[in-house]
Amino acid sequence: MLRQYELVERVKAYDPDANEDLINRAYVYSVKVHGSQQRASGDPYFAHPVEVAGILTRYRLDTATIVTALLHDTVEDTATTIDEIEKGFGGEVAKLVDGVTKLSKIELQSREESQAENFRKFLLAMSADLRVLLVKLADRLHNMRTLKYIASEDKRRRIARETLELYAPLAERIGMRDFQEELQDLAFAELNRDARDSIVRRLEFLAERGGDVVPRIIGTLEELMKAESIEAKISGRKKTPFSIWKKMQQKAVEFEQLSDIMAFRVVVKTVADCYRALGALHSKYRVVPGRFKDYISLPKPNGYRSLHTGVFGPGGHRIEVQIRTEDMHQFAELGLAAHWQYKQHVAAKDTEAYRWLRGLLDILEQGADAEEFLEHTKLEMFQDKAFCFTPHGDLIELPRGATPVDFAYAVHSEIGDHCVGAKINGRMVPLRTTLKNGDQVEIVTSKAQTPSPEWERFVVTGKARARIRRFIRLRQRQEYLDLGQAMLEKAFVARGGAFTGKVVEPVLRQFGQASVEDLVAAVGQGNVSVGDVARAVIPGAETVQAPPKKKKDDAKKPKKDGKDTGAIQLKGLIPGMAVHFAGCCHPLPGERIVGIVTTGKGVTVHTIDCDSLEAFADMPERWIDVAWPEDGDDQTRVGRLHVTVSNEPGALGAITTLIGKYDGNIQNLRFTARTTDFFDMLIDIAVRDVRHLTTIIAALRGQKVVAAVERARS
Ligand code: MN
Repeated sequence: MLRQYELVERVKAYDPDANEDLINRAYVYSVKVHGSQQRASGDPYFAHPVEVAGILTRYRLDTATIVTALLHDTVEDTATTIDEIEKGFGGEVAKLVDGVTKLSKIELQSREESQAENFRKFLLAMSADLRVLLVKLADRLHNMRTLKYIASEDKRRRIARETLELYAPLAERIGMRDFQEELQDLAFAELNRDARDSIVRRLEFLAERGGDVVPRIIGTLEELMKAESIEAKISGRKKTPFSIWKKMQQKAVEFEQLSDIMAFRVVVKTVADCYRALGALHSKYRVVPGRFKDYISLPKPNGYRSLHTGVFGPGGHRIEVQIRTEDMHQFAELGLAAHWQYKQHVAAKDTEAYRWLRGLLDILEQGADAEEFLEHTKLEMFQDKAFCFTPHGDLIELPRGATPVDFAYAVHSEIGDHCVGAKINGRMVPLRTTLKNGDQVEIVTSKAQTPSPEWERFVVTGKARARIRRFIRLRQRQEYLDLGQAMLEKAFVARGGAFTGKVVEPVLRQFGQASVEDLVAAVGQGNVSVGDVARAVIPGAETVQAPPKKKKDDAKKPKKDGKDTGAIQLKGLIPGMAVHFAGCCHPLPGERIVGIVTTGKGVTVHTIDCDSLEAFADMPERWIDVAWPEDGDDQTRVGRLHVTVSNEPGALGAITTLIGKYDGNIQNLRFTARTTDFFDMLIDIAVRDVRHLTTIIAALRGQKVVAAVERARS
């Protein structure tokens, strides 16, 4: 336990003007009134408030907060009254102690009252002064550190759950990451001990095998920054078992695949240096796609700023790197606490965290359904929502970025379908306007209106999107019918036949279609392969281009027949080894390729730039050098294009005709997005090699209706 003089010394070290006398008196008072009370651990009770005060000194908090920490349980657990605290320690401390006491009482009631009502009171109680929350968080942190001494498993689990659902998110929201991480990890240890133990064991094993790589990586990064003349302080750490576990859950991956368990921080002088440091990293190391986040240009809702990126760093280790300035770092480390640091009484009312809290309270005070509110706030407290009102005062909860169209659909599907305009707080606004917390929204409807494809570009709720899509689907059916008809006619002619409704009737069932019209639409939409239909009706007669047999299900049945892709002899492979061509990147003869060995399944071939290779980045033993044979074979292979086309009459026909003209055989076609102006689609084309496909791409790019063509890589 921290001794009296040690506590005072710690405070004096960062705040020479601290009221030493007040801290001393609070310490003595706490020891006296808690008397012989004991903690579950068998320690004297007063050790607890002293430890709580000690935790808060790490954040350099002011005298009133430290004194409150020492006294925080006196009113709740001893005969002391708030009046006595006020007489002995002044009004400011009394108010803070009162706030913490109220929070503790709410905790005790939690089983009798509804959790939502409880949460509402909780927010109200801490809103008076956010220092109350800081003390409460430190209180909870110490209680979690000593949780193991509580005998009742039920009680331990209840406290751990509450910590995970309420306190850890609150700590995150006010930017106190250390608190958040420790709270989560302690709760995790209670709630899922086995999972945590296995992660810890695994981390230990990795550390034993590879030695501690963290200092080595720091050294390498330091050299890199030095070479670029960037002054930087670099630190690194392993992530907590809880955050590793969460990542495993989110991505549904095994520990083996999860290699980014180390995070590094680069603290530099200026914002410009942040971006220079980022540039240095990105040019030296391969970037992990999708990991770069610029929270400097676009800070998190809690005010956090930093650059985040992921790279395959020194030694091929996949690492996360955060880059920030000293100021940003200070904020990230201290969060809200930074505002109560000694000599730094920034008006807390101006902070983001305070505004966020006020916003929540306003909503609650306006009578939102507390249960529903809690459901959405508990774990996702921070994905800021927009709470809006109908003219009757009903609360509609929407995700951030929602528009009046989302609002209209949230009220009722019919209102959404027929909305023509919206008033926000009495003023007419465009339908694409982003709604803000507290907006009152009135939707103007017209029976004549129907959903516009345009809306799909700005709505954010699933419900609105689903309704709009449904409507557009109906309207698009006619276009799919036209396209399907054209594709079928062409395919049948190529096989020496002719397409009519009659000839396909016998195969309808085979393709799971109820009518000829359905089949034609399914082909136009890309759900049924035109080649399959043509082959089913006119078997045997292969077309000049000989459509390859390779289909999606080849991966499961690699050696269906001798003509299969498995038969090709790639350079670098032992004859007879099963070969599959990856569906993600569709490798074509003439391209640089690489093989990945999968036990029991042979070799999967990817293009060298395929994103999926990332998953195998740290398994060099599975990589195998392969190359196409020089003389090739006569077979065609499927290349996939991502094409964006103007949404105008005849556009689709023009494209299919052009591809045919260049000897490409459309195997499949699927729309991925469609707006009033453009549609995006994936087209699978059987080609001879990469040059053949490149020729087709060039030809497509020359078409007026084609906005963009790329090889699809996914
Ligand atoms: Mn306590």
